[in-house]
Amino acid sequence: MNPSTFAYERAETLDDAIALLAEHGDSAKLLAGGHSLLPIMKLRLAEPELLIDIGRISELQGIRDDGAEIAIGALTTHQAIADDPMLRERVPLLADTASRVGDRQVRNRGTIGGALAHADAAADYPAAILALEASIVAKGPQGERRIPAGEFFLDFLTTALQPDEILTEVRIAAPPQGHGWSYQKLANQASGYALVGVGVLVVLDNGVCSDIRIGITGAAPVAWRARAVESALRGRTLDANAVNSAAAAAIDGVELLDDLHGSAEYRRRVTQGLTRRAILQAAERAAGTQ
Ligand SMILES: Cc1cc2nc3c(=O)[nH]c(=O)nc-3n(C[C@H](O)[C@H](O)[C@H](O)COP(=O)(O)OP(=O)(O)OC[C@H]3O[C@@H](n4cnc5c(N)ncnc54)[C@H](O)[C@@H]3O)c2cc1C
Repeated sequence: MNPSTFAYERAETLDDAIALLAEHGDSAKLLAGGHSLLPIMKLRLAEPELLIDIGRISELQGIRDDGAEIAIGALTTHQAIADDPMLRERVPLLADTASRVGDRQVRNRGTIGGALAHADAAADYPAAILALEASIVAKGPQGERRIPAGEFFLDFLTTALQPDEILTEVRIAAPPQGHGWSYQKLANQASGYALVGVGVLVVLDNGVCSDIRIGITGAAPVAWRARAVESALRGRTLDANAVNSAAAAAIDGVELLDDLHGSAEYRRRVTQGLTRRAILQAAERAAGTQ
């Protein structure tokens, strides 16, 4: 199916894009990599009158280490994140997650800003973004603000971004050296989207878990932190028994999706299983560096 008719403008700067968005309001949509927007336009689930192409705005490009934090521009593609040597060394959970998005064509065009703003329930990034306690930076006519990852994903396809705001970058305080990490995913075989994806970050102190953060995506309308599992394991040795019993709480308080891709019961079992697997792999990686 073809999309309905739309006008097209290319914004040259971030201020241009913000002004165009403020002028056209709900009738306009930002275009980044187009790998979520164009499919939904073809299905006529979105019928914007104007596409504002932000794809060449230099302020939204690039990966920088500014000492305290690593900043990843909204237009950074999934493949660029997967390949970046600094991210692979300092934030391997994010680089690995990016390498698992869709196929190479999708990774070469799709951007982290577009993926986070779109907030597909089956998107990969939210698991890592939650586990890393990243901040999302947004800019609009009222200025710039930082949104903690835990407050960003609100519901299915819904984030804390205001309609007149542009996601400009993702900021991450790199986890301590020697941390362990894992991203475990059960992918939809056709699209690569996550039926369930679990991102885990573990810090050990003399073999005892001093910090653990778990983000889960795909299994519910919105990604979540598995805080009950984290609390059960902080201060403990991450042996198989402790992890097995704690991982059962991964779905506590969450209403799981129940659709043609998998029943809620199936998702429950997969989520608990992948949580177990991700914690054990992250613990092994952390132990290997001690
Ligand atoms: C075949 C296929 C397989 C895929 N498989 C996966 C997968 O396995 N895992 C996965 O996570 N994703 C997958 N995706 C989605 C892919 O990651 C998209 O690239 C991503 O979701 C959207 O990024 P984009 O740059 O293409 O954004 P666009 O499609 O250009 O935009 C998406 C939405 O975000 C808005 N937007 C874009 N940039 C900004 C910004 N900076 N600020 C505010 N709003 C903005 C747009 O207006 C639009 O509403 C797949 C897509 C396809 C087509």
